[in-house]
Amino acid sequence: MKAAIFTSVQATTGPFLEIKEVPRPQPKAGHVLLRVLACGVCRTDLHIVEGDLPPVRPQLIPGHQIVGEVVDGATADLPLGTRVGVSWMGGVDGNCWYCRHEMEKLCDNPTFTGYTVNGGYAEYALVRDDFTFPLPAGLDNEHVAPLLSEGIIGFRSLHVAGIEPGERVGLFGFGSSASLAVPILQSWKCEVYVVTRGESHRRAAASLGATWIGKEDDKPPVELDRAITFAPSGKVVVSALASLRKGGVVAINAIHLDQMPAFDYDKLLWGERQIRSVANMTRQDARDFLGVAQALPIRPHVTSFSLEEANKALLAVKKETESGSAVIVP
Ligand SMILES: [Zn+2]
Ligand SMILES: [Zn+2]
Repeated sequence: MKAAIFTSVQATTGPFLEIKEVPRPQPKAGHVLLRVLACGVCRTDLHIVEGDLPPVRPQLIPGHQIVGEVVDGATADLPLGTRVGVSWMGGVDGNCWYCRHEMEKLCDNPTFTGYTVNGGYAEYALVRDDFTFPLPAGLDNEHVAPLLSEGIIGFRSLHVAGIEPGERVGLFGFGSSASLAVPILQSWKCEVYVVTRGESHRRAAASLGATWIGKEDDKPPVELDRAITFAPSGKVVVSALASLRKGGVVAINAIHLDQMPAFDYDKLLWGERQIRSVANMTRQDARDFLGVAQALPIRPHVTSFSLEEANKALLAVKKETESGSAVIVP
């Protein structure tokens, strides 16, 4: 099969991936083989190929927003031809302290799709059958792909931030994940304040009907109840914190931050403000979000790339040239 391969000793300035023929994965117990129909390109993929996340395999097929159809390993629940989604959480051990306490997102021995195991930048992908999700029928392959990580984790961030209906919510950085959260916030009658450096991102926020939109160093005109940061920057977390009312929460939706700058505790954190990180997701988060996405509906803006154009797709995410999501269609 054709696949885009990341070799961890490769120079990290790009091109990151090499497109080549590799053996198709062999079916194994507890897994289904998927023919990949589409695979979204997430910012985390960029963190992997740029070395922000340490390499865990010498050779890797990235990609963790997989839409695929079952072509081998079918079960009663997943008959041949079933269309399913796969996300970043590709498996857990089921018996560590976190799994036993209903916090599988924090599992001590997790499998991460497209990082600790091969992912979906390929014609086929082998995935754990119990970490696949049925997909809403109303969304085609390319439009459902970005929901599988960017969408789910954005949704999770709203819960980590503890958002209540009608609150004033700041979104700091406005890529795909943030834009997918806007329709949910609007359905909760929240006011949405967007702070982002990218001109195309400000336009995207305007087209989605954000309450207020500012540039990188602008401060929202009101004190925020909650803020979520989407940019991989510690400076942005501090800006978000500086916009909160007492008792407000900043949720950091980033698997990697450049660094956290020093900040004034007395002014910014005292008063029971909180900073929380958003890590991974549970299977229930995925099911809940996909249900909400179908009901609203949430329809991402996508740009499609062929598998041969995988490097171009990563660069589009890196340079933030597109206001929506990049999707690879093998
Ligand atoms: Zn576990
Ligand atoms: Zn992701």
